[in-house]
Amino acid sequence: MSVLVIVEPNNGTINKGGFELATFGKLTAGQDKCLVLVVGKASNAGDLGIYGADEVYEIDQVPVHDSAVYSKVIADASEKLSCHTVIIKANANGKATAGRVAIKLGAGLVSAANSVPESTGGQLQVKRGVFSGKAFATYAITTDKKVITVLGNSIQPKEMGSATSVQSLQVDVPPSTIEVVAKETLSGRAPLPEAELVVSGGRGFKGPENWNILLDLADALDATTACSRPVADADWRPHHEHVGQTGIAIRPNLYIAVGISGAIQHLAGVNNSKTIVVINKDPEAPFFKAADYGIVGDLFEVVPKLTEEIKKLKAGA
Ligand SMILES: Cc1cc2nc3c(=O)[nH]c(=O)nc-3n(C[C@H](O)[C@H](O)[C@H](O)COP(=O)(O)OP(=O)(O)OC[C@H]3O[C@@H](n4cnc5c(N)ncnc54)[C@H](O)[C@@H]3O)c2cc1C
Repeated sequence: MSVLVIVEPNNGTINKGGFELATFGKLTAGQDKCLVLVVGKASNAGDLGIYGADEVYEIDQVPVHDSAVYSKVIADASEKLSCHTVIIKANANGKATAGRVAIKLGAGLVSAANSVPESTGGQLQVKRGVFSGKAFATYAITTDKKVITVLGNSIQPKEMGSATSVQSLQVDVPPSTIEVVAKETLSGRAPLPEAELVVSGGRGFKGPENWNILLDLADALDATTACSRPVADADWRPHHEHVGQTGIAIRPNLYIAVGISGAIQHLAGVNNSKTIVVINKDPEAPFFKAADYGIVGDLFEVVPKLTEEIKKLKAGA
């Protein structure tokens, strides 16, 4: 029996998030094999072997937007490859799919795991955040078959093998009842759930016309941009940038919060960041309590100076 990891390529390439899952799968598998199923085509699929995959399979022509079809393909692949555990990324597709896969396999499911499960006596103990990230809970999956979804940035990809060949996997792909009529691809930096560096702005920016100050800082750091909810609600920034309890939950290595007060609902989505830097002109802003580093000052003065210094540092001056 093996562990099956599901990886979706992005524009024909597997990115860091896919390699993270391979490492997560290998560490979960222990003495068992870690098999990775790439749903779609990826030029670098063989590199999954470097990060923990013992075998890599590829399956094309699966409509990942249709969770009914996607989940059937994953469940069938899991049965065909004799896997006891299926690992899926906790992104929009993963959330829509994992429950269906678990039902088809008769498996216990834990969603949004944030660390490698521990195996004790045939059970898997899976840890995840609860109460908006203020506490952790550990769940034991007692069923023979198991499904786990994993948050981005839960683990760093680890080199533990070498590139491997990619085998084609044959399973029936039923016709989809959903038709995609438009597709908008977001270009640019790493998507928020996978980003290691995030700079984020709040109402302190006063309006969208000042956002270039934050974008310049993001450019200098090669960081992904985020915002507080009122900023997205006011259409200063797109909704997919909204982080927090009702937005995206992220866990980057560095989160720089600029002109954001640090309300509990905002913190719920960002307090698992490894390092938090807060820039706010109000020394009493609640965000400072959650910060590793804080700058009390006017963002319109502080941020351009910070950007300049980062550019100089990067230029080796
Ligand atoms: C059910 C519910 C769910 C919610 N979900 C979310 C969520 O998911 N995400 C989220 O973000 N919010 C969420 N909220 C809203 C949340 O409670 C706060 O209202 C919101 O986070 C505040 O956004 P802000 O910090 O950008 O704005 P404000 O609270 O207005 O804070 C602006 C900050 O900018 C500072 N500032 C102003 N001018 C400057 C300057 N020149 N230089 C430096 N600093 C300056 C101020 O001191 C202040 O601290 C939710 C609320 C509810 C009720």
